[in-house]
Amino acid sequence: MASETPTILVTGGAGYIGSHAVLALRQAGYEVIVLDNLVYGHRDLVETVLKVELVVGDTSDRALLDDLFASRSIAAVMHFAAYLAVGESVQNPGKYYRNNVLGTLTLLEAMVAASVKTLVFSSTCALYGVPETFPIREDQPHQPMSPYAASKGMVERMLADFDVAHGLKSVCFRYFNASGAHPNGRLGEDHDPETHLIPLVLLTAMGKRPAIAIFGTDYPTPDGTCIRDYIHVCDLADAHVRGVDYLLRGGTSDVFNLGNGNGFSVRKVIEQAKQITGRKFTVLERDRRPGDPPILVGSSEKARQILNWQPRYPDLRDSIAHAWQWHQVRHG
Ligand code: UDP
Repeated sequence: MASETPTILVTGGAGYIGSHAVLALRQAGYEVIVLDNLVYGHRDLVETVLKVELVVGDTSDRALLDDLFASRSIAAVMHFAAYLAVGESVQNPGKYYRNNVLGTLTLLEAMVAASVKTLVFSSTCALYGVPETFPIREDQPHQPMSPYAASKGMVERMLADFDVAHGLKSVCFRYFNASGAHPNGRLGEDHDPETHLIPLVLLTAMGKRPAIAIFGTDYPTPDGTCIRDYIHVCDLADAHVRGVDYLLRGGTSDVFNLGNGNGFSVRKVIEQAKQITGRKFTVLERDRRPGDPPILVGSSEKARQILNWQPRYPDLRDSIAHAWQWHQVRHG
């Protein structure tokens, strides 16, 4: 380790999952520097809630990265900074390949040049496309259905190559659907524009949006809507701390699914949100959204065994209730 209290550089630390990981790292005793270009991230979360150093900049800015690595003693990088909207990536693939792939390549080259050789990476279960067997395990083939998913797969490949060539050790976490908010009510999901199901349902329940649209009711699932495995953001954050601990203790590069192994349809999520919020709202049925696989439910046995990871909030109702509390504070 670089020092008694290792410093972790968190790219995208002003965003949804990144901000929760920063808090978890601080609680585990790490020093944290956030690098975020603030295109989607929130300065106020870093400065007033997390209270860690914020460097405003881009992962594709090599000079900035060189300066950062030269001027601080950084033990490892957690790399969250990425564009993440599946639908937008289908419409505008260049934006995704440029930011998610080229931005990461610049980061990896700067890390190697600075001899920082430990990285935890936000990957995605969307890599698996339309799998033939469930729950999905890490060794199932990649069939990305969107440029977003493909961009994450390309980074995983780069990481494998950088390990062989440069000894850069990485943990890739393939998240299922990140959801919920910190139970402290001060951190949560706040994308603009928002594209994710649970926050959109809750904004609709608050009366901030006129209706929630279900994207596709003709999928080969029991109620015709897509099934996803929703994982609480604090459980993701906890896994990231375990991932960095594992690598700093000398662990070898590896990939891990992070999910609960339970699938919920879009209709079921909306039904639970109605129960938890006690609000009535309009639900519309619309065409499928391009790039969406019908079912994504994962096995996270590997993370449980190797990282000793155990989700603390496996119940979808906790995710929705925590997100509801956050939305009322943030948007009330
Ligand atoms: N979805 C929906 N209406 C919305 C937003 C999302 O029906 O307004 C569906 C989407 O098609 C997918 C599921 O909800 O099947 C989860 O989508 P989300 O964007 O939250 O996460 P993703 O699966 O893309 O990571």
